[in-house]
Amino acid sequence: MSEITGRLAELERMGLGRRLRMVSGPQGANVLLDGRPVLLLCSNNYLGLADHPRVREAAADAAMRWGVGAGASRLVSGTMTIHRRLEERLAAFERVEACLLFGSGYLANIGVLGALAGAGDTIFSDELNHASIVDGCRLSRAAVSVYGHRDLGALEWALRRHGRGRRVIVTDTVFSMDGDVAPLAGLVELARAYDARLVVDEAHATGNLGPGGRGAVAEAGLEGEVDVIVGTLGKALGSYGAYVCASAELIRYLLNTARPLIFSTAPPPPAAAGALAALELLEQRPRRVQRLKANARVLRRALADEGFPVEDGEMPIVPLIVGEPDAAMSLCQEAIELGVFAQGIRPPTVAPGSSRLRITTMASHTRAELELAAGVFGQAARRIGLDPRSLEPGLPEREVSIAAVDAEAPVATTVLAMASEPFDLEREPDAAGGGTPMAEAPFDIERELAGPRAA
Ligand code: PMP
Repeated sequence: MSEITGRLAELERMGLGRRLRMVSGPQGANVLLDGRPVLLLCSNNYLGLADHPRVREAAADAAMRWGVGAGASRLVSGTMTIHRRLEERLAAFERVEACLLFGSGYLANIGVLGALAGAGDTIFSDELNHASIVDGCRLSRAAVSVYGHRDLGALEWALRRHGRGRRVIVTDTVFSMDGDVAPLAGLVELARAYDARLVVDEAHATGNLGPGGRGAVAEAGLEGEVDVIVGTLGKALGSYGAYVCASAELIRYLLNTARPLIFSTAPPPPAAAGALAALELLEQRPRRVQRLKANARVLRRALADEGFPVEDGEMPIVPLIVGEPDAAMSLCQEAIELGVFAQGIRPPTVAPGSSRLRITTMASHTRAELELAAGVFGQAARRIGLDPRSLEPGLPEREVSIAAVDAEAPVATTVLAMASEPFDLEREPDAAGGGTPMAEAPFDIERELAGPRAA
């Protein structure tokens, strides 16, 4: 047996074997999963923009106008009109001086951390940070001090002890697998007190939190207080690629030092144009953000009604923590057989003993779909002998001040009413005034089931 065969067999034995599932059709609420119709509840297409007609058209137009590939890295001939335009719009959206596109969020985190810290420096990293941050820390060759999850006391203790070189504090703002939020105000204070740079990853916060969906930094009223914001175009902004926002000087520095930017081809023009169209839709129709929050409330309540230990709230990421990998995958499979798909998440993505279904809602789900899905998860759990009430509760959604709760209450009640209407992208009037050719040909499951000949 080769070492690779042995390793694969070991992964299977531990319940950690992975395989690809195939989705036919766009990332909408209803898809075909390996040929079976299911409700999709694990896409990060939070605002339903990846499959929005205007976003698709913008990408298609860009392909005709600028071609498909950028052909070179940003610093050679790969910086095109559409990259510059998107960077300017993102900088304005994030209310920062400057912005730089990267190939992906993974590459952006590696690039930023490698540029801001090296041998002789120290990075302070939350223990539940995304793998791209973990890898960025490793590749930077800086000393890495991992502090307890959202534990400002532990971070301060570490900052006091580790004084070497340049210091960087790095955190997800919304943690990808738990949906809880970093204590940003405390992090800003500690960064200032200990002369550290603060890098935050808003991958799951953009389009989800903050006024106009501008993220957790904006929600916390900390715009201008954070050194670097990393954002991705692959989630709420419905495309692919990523961006880094900072002062003009820091962006110039990244342009000169961030290796994934220097040594990798610029993002494809259609991806940049699609993201730009999505950003415009987010700015013109922030109602989508409210719709996402309302849907999160509906899903959370329905799961709690099924007995799952899920708190009320507006965070669209909801973990159902079952413990062992096999249990997570059985629950996932049972739910698929009942027509709902939320992927099982296992180590090393999450800590051993905390395997889970990571459920995400999108603005494009209807209330009925979310209630049905919660019922399916309850039924699937009982079918595999799991009492929903016995699950580990997830982490609390966020630390909110009393003032913030009061301010949010009226919004929450009004948006909940909206969630009962089906979400119809075509019905949303757009700036161009109505439907587009693509809007007239929505994804048709029957046609997809029948195969390419039926098209
Ligand atoms: N940061 C976080 C917190 C993420 O969850 C992800 C993607 N799962 C990334 C970065 C990577 O972003 P991208 O998919 O654009 O590479």
